[in-house]
Amino acid sequence: TTKQLVMSEKLAAIGEITAGVAHEINNPIAVIQGNLEVLREIVGDRAEDARTEFSLIDEQTERMRQIVTKLLLFARPDEFSGGEEASSTDEVVRDCLPLVRHLIRKQQISVREDLHAETLAAISRTALQQVLVNLIVNAIQAMPNGGELVLTSEDQVQEGRNGVLLSVADTGTGMDPEVASRIFDPFFTTKKGTGTGLGLSISHMIVTEAEGTIKVRSTPDAGTVFSIWLPEFSAFDD
Ligand code: ADP
Repeated sequence: TTKQLVMSEKLAAIGEITAGVAHEINNPIAVIQGNLEVLREIVGDRAEDARTEFSLIDEQTERMRQIVTKLLLFARPDEFSGGEEASSTDEVVRDCLPLVRHLIRKQQISVREDLHAETLAAISRTALQQVLVNLIVNAIQAMPNGGELVLTSEDQVQEGRNGVLLSVADTGTGMDPEVASRIFDPFFTTKKGTGTGLGLSISHMIVTEAEGTIKVRSTPDAGTVFSIWLPEFSAFDD
């Protein structure tokens, strides 16, 4: 519809501006981080007195860098989704775990994998990994007192199309319906001071771009299940 068209044009314009601004901010942040290191060396032993201040600046500039990286990803997802457009999903799921192992170790979390997909999914490995890591990190953060992380995959036909159904489930805090209805909105976060609110909106965009779907089911105090369906890769598509 016209309304949707206007909306997508607006989003595209916002994307361009965001990408431009994020790019511009990247360089000054790198300069600050570099000079902080130099400063630390110059003050040497006396840096002890300023330890808290130094690490605060360190932490917060790192946080800025991460927000900027996510903003760029948000505004220019194609730049990051390059590479081959077919993924053996089970391999990608398995490759995600080492990336989050340090988080899993810190908390009392057990991991169960139930992976049986054989269909190749029409999405690049990088893009799929980005989505899965977002979901897995969220799942871990939702289980501060431990729990179970369950990753599943299976072949599934949806609306007559072959594809793969993936799920990331946790036994964490869950969400009430009000929160659940907003999680895909850019910048929506309940993690004040630490969240960017971009992880799920980026994931939603990546999955939609791949002509797949992403859905959530959540029960407060019981846990959350994210399911992603992706169409089968066909060498004959453009
Ligand atoms: P962020 O993690 O930076 O807040 P996201 O877009 O990844 O941004 O997530 C948005 C919000 O969705 C989170 O702040 C949280 O409230 C909610 N959320 C996402 N995943 C889960 C989960 N597995 N369990 C409970 N809440 C979740």
